[in-house]
Amino acid sequence: MSHKTERTCDVLVIGGGMAGCAAAIAARRAGAQVILAERSGLLGGCTTLSLVQPWQSFHARPQSPGSRPRQLIKGIAQEFVDDLKALGGTPGHVPDPIGFAPTLTPVNTAVLAPYLVEKLVSEGIEVCLGRTASWVGSTRNAITSVTLAADNLEPLRHLRVRVGQRDRIGAVVDASGCAIVPRLVGGMVITPQRPQAWTHLFTMAGVRTDTIEDYIEERPRDFHLSRNWRVRMNKYFAVSGFLSLVNEARKSGEFPCPRDRVLIFGGTRQGEVIVNTTRVSPPEGYYSLPSTRRMRLAVRLRDKALRQVYDLVKWLRGNVPGFKKAELAQVAAEIGVRESYRIRGKYLLRGRDVVTGAKFPDAVTTAYYPVDIHSPGGSRLKFEILKEPYQIPLRALESRQFRNLFAAGRCLSADSLAFASARVAPIAMALGEAAGKAAAESIN
Ligand SMILES: Cc1cc2nc3c(=O)[nH]c(=O)nc-3n(C[C@H](O)[C@H](O)[C@H](O)COP(=O)(O)OP(=O)(O)OC[C@H]3O[C@@H](n4cnc5c(N)ncnc54)[C@H](O)[C@@H]3O)c2cc1C
Repeated sequence: MSHKTERTCDVLVIGGGMAGCAAAIAARRAGAQVILAERSGLLGGCTTLSLVQPWQSFHARPQSPGSRPRQLIKGIAQEFVDDLKALGGTPGHVPDPIGFAPTLTPVNTAVLAPYLVEKLVSEGIEVCLGRTASWVGSTRNAITSVTLAADNLEPLRHLRVRVGQRDRIGAVVDASGCAIVPRLVGGMVITPQRPQAWTHLFTMAGVRTDTIEDYIEERPRDFHLSRNWRVRMNKYFAVSGFLSLVNEARKSGEFPCPRDRVLIFGGTRQGEVIVNTTRVSPPEGYYSLPSTRRMRLAVRLRDKALRQVYDLVKWLRGNVPGFKKAELAQVAAEIGVRESYRIRGKYLLRGRDVVTGAKFPDAVTTAYYPVDIHSPGGSRLKFEILKEPYQIPLRALESRQFRNLFAAGRCLSADSLAFASARVAPIAMALGEAAGKAAAESIN
């Protein structure tokens, strides 16, 4: 990492989540000189910082019974999967025993984080970890610079990155997951009114998945299961249910989370599961509050979710078959925030585009994932399985306000309903690749 305080580049990517990584590679491969700045010390975003996985889904449902799911998302996202497979960091795409998504792609996050740094550096991208985009310089319709604050690692100083070289203006890809670039200049953003619930994920080791499968066999009605779940479970373990156990525990006040079920996914190691069950809800209008109030509330919500982690571990060990001797293995470094500010683009992807399988002349990807809403303030999971895939247009990645600003991943210009489908990692990576390529092409 450099000690210089001023730098220039063609394309600056803010945020090193899966979308930002794909964007940086795409921009570099399109000939741009690229800097990627990431606030934390790890690349991978939600996947590595919040332990969010498996990635779902690269595929759409089969067109006819008996045929295979159709792969929609390829490109750099698939390249990540191929590389990780070679490193033992994923088994690749596996069928979903719950029947929610066409396929799941489990990822070993310990393999993913260092792999991403190596991959980006080998592509010729300058990776700046521990650098937070904190000030933005702009003209009326273009971003001219972004100043990156250093974390507390002395003697690093703030780094001002000028976007563009000599008389040629460069481009910025906002892959921060929270539209930080326009927000720093008071620009146009989409503010969610009823944001989805937050979840603090954790992993447990030593889980007897065979015992759980026996239990499911005895009480299949207590679970959400795909028709051929037994065959699928041989390849990959995932469970949504224990409905009666949770219901009884809720009645007696023993269940620590406001949820109607336990949702767990297998890890990449034997006996390891990822528990995606805690839930705290920011109030309606949370994202419209002044930042000091939001920060105070966020601290309280995070504390509450962390208490749920420890209480849930205790409850699982004491009440759920297969967990008796299991141990808490890892708690995510950061709570998972499903929905935040997004860039206001030239096009707003709407819920009806998603549920009607909309097509666009400037489509950058075709996507498929249920509209999946972790109800704010409620215990349920609302979802709608899509009849067919939908497309996302380039205009939903192009800022309406700044001619050289592009949205990647979760910064997508979408309403809450559309976002409830388009927010998942494979789609975020496809959007990242499209944004990076468009950013690089825009400066030529
Ligand atoms: C609880 C939860 C469960 C989920 N479940 C699934 C699932 O099962 N499967 C699935 O595929 N997807 C799931 N998702 C969605 C998915 O993980 C993310 O939406 C997706 O990974 C988004 O990727 P991204 O790169 O756009 O954003 P992020 O992963 O959020 O990455 C944004 C990056 O930007 C960085 N950043 C933020 N601000 C700044 C700044 N000012 N300066 C520099 N860097 C900054 C952050 O540190 C982060 O690394 C879930 C999400 C959550 C929260």
